[in-house]
Amino acid sequence: MNVEDTFQRRLRNLRISVTDRCNLRCAYCMPEEDYVWLPREQILHFEEVSALADVFMDLGVDKIRLTGGEPLLRRDVDGLIRLLAAKPRLRDLAITTNGVLLAEQARALKAAGLHRVTVSLDTLRPDRFARLTRRSNHAQVLAGIGALPAAGFTGTKLDTVVMRGVNDDELADLIEFGKTVPAEVRFIEYMDVGGATQWSMEQVVSRAEMLEVLGRRYGRIEPVVEESTAPADRYALTDGTVFGIISSTTEPFCASCDRSRLTADGVWYLCLYAQSGVDLRGPLRRGVSRDELTQLIADTWKRRTDRGAEQRLRLRDRTPLVQIGRLREDPHLEMHTRGG
Ligand code: SAM
Ligand code: SF4
Ligand code: SF4
Repeated sequence: MNVEDTFQRRLRNLRISVTDRCNLRCAYCMPEEDYVWLPREQILHFEEVSALADVFMDLGVDKIRLTGGEPLLRRDVDGLIRLLAAKPRLRDLAITTNGVLLAEQARALKAAGLHRVTVSLDTLRPDRFARLTRRSNHAQVLAGIGALPAAGFTGTKLDTVVMRGVNDDELADLIEFGKTVPAEVRFIEYMDVGGATQWSMEQVVSRAEMLEVLGRRYGRIEPVVEESTAPADRYALTDGTVFGIISSTTEPFCASCDRSRLTADGVWYLCLYAQSGVDLRGPLRRGVSRDELTQLIADTWKRRTDRGAEQRLRLRDRTPLVQIGRLREDPHLEMHTRGG
């Protein structure tokens, strides 16, 4: 069964955060050192995640991405991957990771049935990495990326949040690095989501500006024409190298958004910018039937009106979405809790 929301957008793509914890402190996501963490007893067990995934799949979800926080910090995450990979209706099972623990886990992730890996990589320079993440694991991240081909992974992506004056002079270097992995690099516009409490429009490098800079270096850049609800618009260089740009801030793609997010404690969010979500852990742990859960999720999706990034675009004098005080009161507003 497929369900559509009020803008005829199908429920299709589910991001599951498996932990709100992280071993980095990226300035655009976790600018503080310490956080209000989700209580451990509320974190869904793998069997609970698997049961919810079944319900979502009954309603048309066929793509799942594990995220966090840092998903590789969740103990035995390959066990969850094994449960999910065994579901025949799942067409795509991916993970987004900061790569720190990837070298040691890549083979186990592949053996468990994971299809694809996206690694977040904002810079090739160790000193910048240390400033941006307030940790010194850059070499581990590069080793993690390097371990993917030998573990049997193809279709790897590298995601870079581009920030003015921070890493916007590395676009071409990252594309060149991507060729050696091999991996497709995707540049993400800096977003004013929860957690990005120091965001400002001046630091956003727009898609148009990125294309201009890359055009000066590479000459002709052709858009890749394709039918897709994926957030990245893809472009090809004359040598055939393809890269993507996710223009979530200046040219949002809410009109075709089929994504929703499940937090590690089982709260379901219909939009990255949504201020509240639907608790699925409660009903699940009370033992409601699968039909009742299906009904709850379907009815919620059918009422969905979210177009968060488009609404943000219409604001004048745009400031960060939430301030630190609110994030402490409701950690679900954090990007590292909601899952990017
Ligand atoms: N820890 C993992 C990682 O970094 O890949 C997974 C979770 S992280 C929240 C998922 C993605 O969200 C990362 O690629 C990160 O760069 C992105 N992200 C976080 N805050 C962002 C922001 N303010 N603007 C744009 N992207 C952001
Ligand atoms: Fe950085 Fe990802 Fe951790 Fe956020 S969750 S601080 S983006 S590594
Ligand atoms: Fe989808 Fe919300 Fe992002 Fe728009 S802002 S693309 S509706 S998650």
